[in-house]
Amino acid sequence: MRATDNLAGGRLTIDRDAIAANWSLLKGLLKPGTTCAATIKADAYGTGATSTAQRLWEAGCTTFFVALPEEGALVRSALPDATVYVLGGLFPGTASDLAGANLIPVLNSVAEVREWAGFCKAESRAFPAALQLNTGMNRLGMDPEEFADVMAQKELTGSFDIALLMTHLACGSDPEHPLNRQQLNTFVAATQPFSTLPRSMANSAGVFLGPDYHFDLARPGISLYGGKALDTAPNIMSPVAMVEARVMQIRNVPKGQTIGYGGAETVTRDSKIALVAAGYADGLHRRAGSSDDRPGGFGVIDGHKVPLIGRVSMDMIALDVTDVPGEAVTRGSFVEMLGPNVAASDLAAYAETIDYEYLTGLGRRYHRRYAALPAPQER
Ligand SMILES: *Cc1c(COP(=O)(O)O)cnc(C)c1O
Repeated sequence: MRATDNLAGGRLTIDRDAIAANWSLLKGLLKPGTTCAATIKADAYGTGATSTAQRLWEAGCTTFFVALPEEGALVRSALPDATVYVLGGLFPGTASDLAGANLIPVLNSVAEVREWAGFCKAESRAFPAALQLNTGMNRLGMDPEEFADVMAQKELTGSFDIALLMTHLACGSDPEHPLNRQQLNTFVAATQPFSTLPRSMANSAGVFLGPDYHFDLARPGISLYGGKALDTAPNIMSPVAMVEARVMQIRNVPKGQTIGYGGAETVTRDSKIALVAAGYADGLHRRAGSSDDRPGGFGVIDGHKVPLIGRVSMDMIALDVTDVPGEAVTRGSFVEMLGPNVAASDLAAYAETIDYEYLTGLGRRYHRRYAALPAPQER
């Protein structure tokens, strides 16, 4: 531990080798010939975009997806030879910035296609772009009719290099959802006339939905970071991030008194409470707090599961450590709030959110280090 780590409330450990191992596992699930790319938007889901991209590159990943042009520029500075797609599309007037940084926009509308085509014509150079189809999610992308129309206009699509045709699943986390098959059929029908062009549909969930969904390239995100892609199956990915926060004080609270703001939770026995230096400003969602009406999230200390008690404050939480032996929890001890013993998806469920939001919102106050995570503690 660095000396200054003593000054931080908590530490965030990122296991880059685990991210690489998750990528290899996903790649092994894909049908032969399918490229496994990596989605590293939002600072690689909180793990650090450039360091994660570099580690994945070492593992053999050469294609990356980011959300914003700015994120793409950052990845480009770390990996000069990687293929980098920008999912957010072409922001007005930014074609030369993207092409200059060797970034590939995902063109999501006819207006974007026109702008990219105009730029390529003016430069007399067929820069690459992906085309996204809306197959039912109704987020970004061209409707199949618009796509067909654009493809028929050679003066538009003839002026640039179509590197990828893609679409995105709305309900992939639920394998039984009828929209999955419907989107697949729409995508196949729309792209069939151009099936020599590389196609991509699968996010993490799509990888698990099976080979029909794999096409030429998959672009998993959450599974790389140990998250849960399918709602209905156990998670086979390894955790890659661990949050540990420091115990600042241990307090005995007599039965019948309340803890924290709003007096939201009354202790029902004489209790030993640990005040821990991480709160909602560190990404521990306020909704994960506990009250007399509703249980909250938990942490793990020395293999003991310790529940939150009362509301989550900005800078701290209270944990019920009554059942933890005295020597296992003292002033200065660290409590795991995310990691091998506390799945992001479990914690997220208490806050009525998803592990994606937990990971991307971990906050800026943790001291960050890159190291292997310990094995889970059984107790
Ligand atoms: C975020 C995103 C992905 C990755 O999704 P995961 O569910 O994290 O695997 C892939 N494609 C698009 C278009 C996305 O927005």
